[in-house]
Amino acid sequence: MASLKDQLGGLVYSTDHGDTCPDCRHPLAECNCAQQAEQARLAELDGIVRIRRETSGRKGKGVTTIEGVPLSATELKALAKALKKRCGTGGAVKEGVVEIQGDHRELLKDELEKRGYRVKLAGG
Ligand SMILES: [Zn+2]
Repeated sequence: MASLKDQLGGLVYSTDHGDTCPDCRHPLAECNCAQQAEQARLAELDGIVRIRRETSGRKGKGVTTIEGVPLSATELKALAKALKKRCGTGGAVKEGVVEIQGDHRELLKDELEKRGYRVKLAGG
């Protein structure tokens, strides 16, 4: 038999429409799917940061992508912000990959190496 507290808890959650995680069905405040996905991503990294230029389906010079940076999502956003500022351009972070608009491979390689990362230029 569930305790009164649990029953009340369930009641609160069930009226809390839209605030549960679609993956684990826990209230968002208790959901750690994002952390788990992030830990899985970090566990797969080999310590090498890969910089790539992508032009397919994009206008102009495309974007420079940075993959494999061993940082949490929050730190990655901060890094992306610093790199965007350094390059004087825009960008975004998508699923652990930093995208910087334009072709800034050499500059980004220098910047990341200065920060102590092992960097490889990959692809075209
Ligand atoms: Zn969840």
